[in-house]
Amino acid sequence: MGSLETLSWLNRFLDETPGDREIGGEPRQVPGVCWSKVKPTEPPQPRLRLWSDEMAERLGIVRPNGVILGGGALLEGMQPYAQRYGGHQFGNWANQLGDGRAITLGEVELADEVLELQLKGAGKTPYSRFADGKAVLRSSIREFLCSEAMYHLGVPTTRALSLVTTGEVVVRDMLYDGNPAPEIGAVVCRVAPSFIRFGSFQIHTADGNHETLVKLLKHTINNHFPEHNIDNDEGIISWLKKVAETTAEMIAHWMRVGFVHGVMNTDNMSIHGLTIDYGPYGWLENYDPNWTPNTTDSSTRRYRYGQQAQIGAWNIARLAEAVAPLMDDVQSLYSVLEHYENKYIEYQNTMWGLKLGIDDFAEADEALVIELDGLLQKVETDMTIFFRMLSTIESPEIGLLESSFYDKNTIPTDEWNEWLHKWWKRVNSKPNQEAMRRANPKYVLRNWMAQLAIDAAENEDYTVCEELFTLLKQPYDEQPEMEEKWFQKRPEWARHRVGCSMLSCSS
Ligand code: AMP
Ligand code: MG
Repeated sequence: MGSLETLSWLNRFLDETPGDREIGGEPRQVPGVCWSKVKPTEPPQPRLRLWSDEMAERLGIVRPNGVILGGGALLEGMQPYAQRYGGHQFGNWANQLGDGRAITLGEVELADEVLELQLKGAGKTPYSRFADGKAVLRSSIREFLCSEAMYHLGVPTTRALSLVTTGEVVVRDMLYDGNPAPEIGAVVCRVAPSFIRFGSFQIHTADGNHETLVKLLKHTINNHFPEHNIDNDEGIISWLKKVAETTAEMIAHWMRVGFVHGVMNTDNMSIHGLTIDYGPYGWLENYDPNWTPNTTDSSTRRYRYGQQAQIGAWNIARLAEAVAPLMDDVQSLYSVLEHYENKYIEYQNTMWGLKLGIDDFAEADEALVIELDGLLQKVETDMTIFFRMLSTIESPEIGLLESSFYDKNTIPTDEWNEWLHKWWKRVNSKPNQEAMRRANPKYVLRNWMAQLAIDAAENEDYTVCEELFTLLKQPYDEQPEMEEKWFQKRPEWARHRVGCSMLSCSS
């Protein structure tokens, strides 16, 4: 094992795309570039609080103190920068956004891949706009725990290596209702092949800067999609289809585990099809396709659970538009959207086959799913518990699934038994329960679980964070000793609690 000091750093993004070499500076428009050089802000009292052993092992490093991963010192070879990108926010073009509080330290070269290490919350950059570039403990815990939990669930995601508290007070108006309060500052180090987003391309097209657009595309293809090219329309289409495919696959996984991203703006869409930018995300507890955790989105619910696949398509269309200036025949871009849709249906059917233990899931089975979707919404039904219990029952009786319901007196028993019998018949009384137990997690990071971890950590107690971190590394295992505490429906106190049922972008 080495240490942070022994890692070898690459800076391919800086070497291969145009940038702004003046370090830091005030928030401003920086036309024509893909990045700006910045310096992380030194934290007064950095303390390493959470550490991902698996991620560290992948990087081949031992646990450090909090100085470097809190932004307090640079190692030789690091050339920190903030990325410039734009994006559509809630359907509207927002122009330049960029890494307002993310700072990439550099790329680490491993034997078989190159990974980028990025600090989130280490201070201002030219893209900070009106904000402070900092992050608070609650949102940092949510990002750390959730990205690692998603990884262990098998959902494509950026990873987290560390969480450092900075010793600094950060003021936030959590619900944007005129009640600013001091909070604990924190920095998460996250890891991904790159943090390039759909919006990274969009901004150059919006600027009409095709030269930079092409340079960024070439960098992206050469380093991250070596089997692709952008030499002609065919190459571009084939690459876009690849991005469409990975995006569709990621969203199908979200649907499988009940994850709602909450802010699927095009600046939050990874070019690698990774879940990125954990903000006001949430997990379905009672199955409600209209649910969104994001209070900022409560009026239109654009990013609700049930609409995530459609939004994925909308976002892919924006990416296709961004590369349209390089195409001879723009019309052929429609094939990318068709591909997205076909692939999504394919992934969705695979998912339902696994969730319901139907090995040869076919189009004809979609009716069964539609009926199930309706039934799950009839009365409050816990999604995770329902599917997990369904993976274990020995006969098709709703009584065996009783614990998934919030109010046992309201269960539409006859309708359920009818559906269960249909399903049972379809699987010849032998659902593939092994497949089901690998598709229907027993433990997910329910909103109230994260909140309990946060409440304790805000009082200097990180044991709940550690307990959840350990629990969520084996989300498909029974872990019977954990059931009573964590295989549970949302408790009453969490129903209307801020941070559980309601989250904002404030972080
Ligand atoms: P998000 O909704 O978190 O994806 O953020 C949208 C934009 O706001 C991105 O450009 C972020 O970098 C920026 N941003 C969010 N929070 C802060 C902050 N505390 N300081 C500076 N920029 C921020
Ligand atoms: Mg973002």
